[in-house]
Amino acid sequence: MLDKYGRKIEYMRVSITDRCDLRCRYCMPEGIKKVSMSQILTYEEIVRICRAASELGISKIKITGGEPFVRLGCTGLMRDIKAIDGIEEVTVTTNGQTLEKYIDELRDIGIDGINISLDTLDPERFEYITGRGELGKTLRAIELAAGSGIKTKINTLLQKEFNEDEIKDIAALAFRYGIDVRFIEMMPVGAADAETGLSNTEVLKKLMEIWPDLEPDGSVHGNGPAVYYRRPGVKGSIGLISAIHGKFCQYCNRVRLTSQGQLKPCLGFDTGTDLMPVLKRPHDETDHELKEVLRKAIIDKPKAHSFSNEGNASDHAEQRLMSQIGG
Ligand code: SAM
Ligand code: SF4
Repeated sequence: MLDKYGRKIEYMRVSITDRCDLRCRYCMPEGIKKVSMSQILTYEEIVRICRAASELGISKIKITGGEPFVRLGCTGLMRDIKAIDGIEEVTVTTNGQTLEKYIDELRDIGIDGINISLDTLDPERFEYITGRGELGKTLRAIELAAGSGIKTKINTLLQKEFNEDEIKDIAALAFRYGIDVRFIEMMPVGAADAETGLSNTEVLKKLMEIWPDLEPDGSVHGNGPAVYYRRPGVKGSIGLISAIHGKFCQYCNRVRLTSQGQLKPCLGFDTGTDLMPVLKRPHDETDHELKEVLRKAIIDKPKAHSFSNEGNASDHAEQRLMSQIGG
């Protein structure tokens, strides 16, 4: 469906848990209290929301978190969402730490894409930034996903004086595996200090110095606002998601569902619609009330986020952690 600015909203990111097996410093630092399971949407409620959303024109779903694979039974949920009429694509975002266990099942379900987050190729830096992760597991996940035939993307957040010296080595994974590597600008949400983030204008400059043959890749790679570059005759692309320095709000096609049942129309604001009350009321097959609440929330999506070019947030900026919202 269209929102009030005429944007076609067809993509919903669904955070199925706020829990995670890692503690990335900018996302879910140590010491965060868990939300009790009674406050988290059940799988039945998530499927119900996806079904209602599909009737309003949402055709693409991203399963995210926290870390989706820490929630028991998450692959069953993915299977159920895949089976909804009108849902054309179900993809998942993961830190890759446990992907090895699930990769065969994901292929069997017919999952349409796997995004794996990787900020560094240095084991010590990896442990530092993720709090407790093992680089080897995420690298293995990338290898398995790339070899599985499922569309695979790597997501990287670059930070000044932390991993900016790794642009070349991380980007080179795109050409090594024939996949997409995307550099995402740090957003001032939750625990993140966007001023530590690197601008993608600088990243592109560095990439062009390394590979002067890089050229814009006009083909559509997914649901998002990434701008892609490729090298003639070489498989794999490098994407830039420039939320801060290349505001793309006029093309925004998405809404977000938090694990606690809030429909967030824009990542940049602390506003949203609590779906819990309507989910708890009796409903019939048409689920009319839920659809009307979703419709209103989508129509009223804000025109644009309010992050400044310096990465500052406005008074109504989202204070919750990215692990609660799903990225
Ligand atoms: N645990 C999964 C993972 O790490 O891919 C899924 C959830 S995580 C919140 C989704 C994505 O959000 C990750 O790629 C992460 O790097 C990104 N992210 C977290 N905080 C961010 C921020 N402040 N700005 C931009 N991206 C962020
Ligand atoms: Fe967990 Fe992903 Fe956030 Fe890291 S970025 S703490 S892996 S949810």
